[in-house]
Amino acid sequence: VVDYENGQWGSPSIVPFGEMKFSPAMLSLHYGQAVFEGMKAFHTKDGSINIFRPHKHLDRFNKSLHRMCMPSVPEELWLSSLKRLIEIDKEWVPKTEGASLYIRPFMFATESRLGVKVSDTFKFVILTSPVGPYQAKPYRLKVENKYVRTAEGGTGFAKCAGNYGGAFYPTQIAREEGFDQILWTDSKEHKYIDEVGMMNVMFVLNGKLVTPQLSTAILDGITRDSILTLAKEMAGFSVEERKVSIDEIEQGFIKGTLTEAFGTGTAAVVAPISVIHINGTDYQIPSAGPTSFQLQVKQKLHNIRMGLEPDTHEWNYLVKV
Ligand code: PMP
Repeated sequence: VVDYENGQWGSPSIVPFGEMKFSPAMLSLHYGQAVFEGMKAFHTKDGSINIFRPHKHLDRFNKSLHRMCMPSVPEELWLSSLKRLIEIDKEWVPKTEGASLYIRPFMFATESRLGVKVSDTFKFVILTSPVGPYQAKPYRLKVENKYVRTAEGGTGFAKCAGNYGGAFYPTQIAREEGFDQILWTDSKEHKYIDEVGMMNVMFVLNGKLVTPQLSTAILDGITRDSILTLAKEMAGFSVEERKVSIDEIEQGFIKGTLTEAFGTGTAAVVAPISVIHINGTDYQIPSAGPTSFQLQVKQKLHNIRMGLEPDTHEWNYLVKV
């Protein structure tokens, strides 16, 4: 836990999980000035603990903070806090295959005041919790053509609290209609795909890996970036980052050229999609076999993180414990 006051960071302290005291007029509670990250740490085969891509997570955290008028976190504060936490929490990093320590850094406005304004004071906190392997059953998706997660020019590229609160209601409606997640589309025409649920989305179309290009409405997923990087290196996979329309996906189903669809994110790594409901039709996607792109890339990423394959991109941040 560390406070930011008078334009300066205080000294960080590590405290047991428990209650914290806040003013009911704390600005973040009213005006949503709150930003977070989600990352993971793993045991590697050589006995160290690997925090996966902390520099890239910091870069995104700082972009989110900038968008929300909040101070950026210096790299030294970020890395030294993570390292200290991992050293203290080493017993909490699970050793079971596929399990990890989830790390949740977040920052929120703490000034106590009723008027709408940018806070002068902030608290930066990092929570950790062991998590098991995430085994989502393949998703049935509703193409959203009424609500939006965020608009172009809005805060979709930032990991700020309000994006999630605003997505609850459309997601609840989709669940009542029998779907698992929403396929979010652009705010102007509901024509182009943005993301799936709270993940980035990828398709294997005509044998190529296709994913929506980043915009102000799409979160720059660390898993997305890792998978695109690995795909470019895997034999036979060309990658296209571009606008992807619902029409194109429907045509892919009709012509049989769409062979895989999956979400990507820190929690699940890849989450298979089984059905996309487009214009009244449930289009089915065959389940991903061991030679599918998604399972191959998931395995490769796993191997790199566990130290079973060379980490040629320097994604692993190893803490000796
Ligand atoms: N989009 C949204 C809206 C998310 O919340 C997440 C999860 N952080 C992602 C995409 C995937 O990002 P990452 O791969 O960095 O977890």
